[in-house]
Parts: sequence; C-alpha cells; structure tokens
Amino acid sequence: MKVYVMVGAPGAGKGTQAAILAEQLGMRHLASGDLFREAVREGTPVGLEAKRYMDRGALVPDPVVIAMIEERLDRQDAAAGVILDGFPRTRPQAEALAVALARREAQVDAALYVGVPEDELVRRLSGRWVCRASGHPYHVVSKPPLVTGICDIDGSELYQREDDRPETVRARLEQQLAPMYDVIDHYTELGVLVAVDGTQPIAAVTEALLRAIAHPARPAGRSEAA
Ligand code: AMP
Repeated sequence: MKVYVMVGAPGAGKGTQAAILAEQLGMRHLASGDLFREAVREGTPVGLEAKRYMDRGALVPDPVVIAMIEERLDRQDAAAGVILDGFPRTRPQAEALAVALARREAQVDAALYVGVPEDELVRRLSGRWVCRASGHPYHVVSKPPLVTGICDIDGSELYQREDDRPETVRARLEQQLAPMYDVIDHYTELGVLVAVDGTQPIAAVTEALLRAIAHPARPAGRSEAA
C-alpha cells in the first residue's frame, strides 16, 4: 500500500491538492476533518467526543484520531494506496502512524508539505465557504461560486464552517502550527519530506507535487555522492 501524507496548515490547500492527487493517482483520499464531520453528523460516540474540540478549533485527542484512521486503513478501498489529509497533525500521531503502517508492511512514502504564510492562511480561511454535500471549497473573493450560496459542482448549499469564523481561525492556527512543525521535523528526519510553495496557482502546486512524487527524496543520511 502506497502512503502519502499531506502536511500543511488549515487553509494551505492540502485538501484541494489531496483530492486532485487521489483522482490522478487512483488512490483513496482520507481527510481526518471530513471523517470527524461525518461522525458528528451521524452522532456517533467518536463524533460526540470530537465535536467538543472541533468547535473550539482545538485538536481532537491523539488516541481518538489514531483509532479512527487505523480502522480506515483496513478497509478494502485503502488497498490501492491512501493520501492522508489532516493526519498526522502531531508528532505522536506521526509515530503512531509509522507503527500502524509497519504492522501492514507499509510506510509513509512521501510527506507533502504545502507551505503558505500565516497572514495568507487567515485571509483564505475566514473567506472560505464549503458545500453541504461534499465540502467543495469556495472563497468569497478569490473563488466565488457562479450562483451565490450554491455549489457549482453539486448544487448543494454553501455554508461557513463553525471553525472558519474569523475569531476561531486565529485560535486554530495558534494551536495547530507548532505541532505541525513537529510533524515536518519528523518527516525531514526520515528524509521523506517534500516542500512546495502553496501560494502558487492550484495547477502549479499539483505539478510540483507530482514531480516530487515521481522523483522521491533519498532516505535521510545518504549523500548525493554516495
Ligand atoms: P480540518 O478539516 O482538517 O481542518 O479538521 C477540522 C477539525 O477536526 C480540526 O480543527 C480538529 O479539531 C479536528 N481534527 C482533524 N484532524 C485531526 C487530527 N489529525 N488530530 C486532531 N484533530 C483533528
């Protein structure tokens, strides 16, 4: 099973890129935030637990997230490979993922970091609206829908996520950036981190990611000359 991990702050565009890559590479896109929102909608025990944290822009405790992802890795549709989006978000999650994958004779083949400066993240997140049916993203200024309030793709209603309200956005970034840098360090140490400039147009970011995947980094510790 091939495994790619998307790394990036909320609003960096990693969900958009994960969806495109999954489609192009024939892999399963697993977005932890979407899985939690689904669980909240369905009112499952995981959903009820997660909601307490999500509404505040806080991270859901590691054991809850890890159990949910492990269960997904074992489903049939993950066999061709997965692109994890929004997980791991902390170093313990990254370490738990390594253990879970090793048990399945797999590993993280590449960690794809989409970098965007913080001010740009705030601008993007507080103007973001998503559709009810599938979470397709829009932006009030840079990517408005053709008809106000309606998704271009599936016609469902657009809404602003509770945690995309301006007052929650700063809190989310404050709480989530430090652990994200730990995750980046973890994958840098393993020699599988690829960093791309997330301020480029969507297609250029995709191209940079596909190029990086096609020419994977050398394992940590090996020099060019060796
Ligand atoms: P996202 O859609 O990725 O921004 O996730 C929405 C919310 O779900 C986050 O703000 C967290 O509360 C929670 N969440 C998603 N993924 C994780 C994770 N890997 N670890 C902890 N909490 C998560």
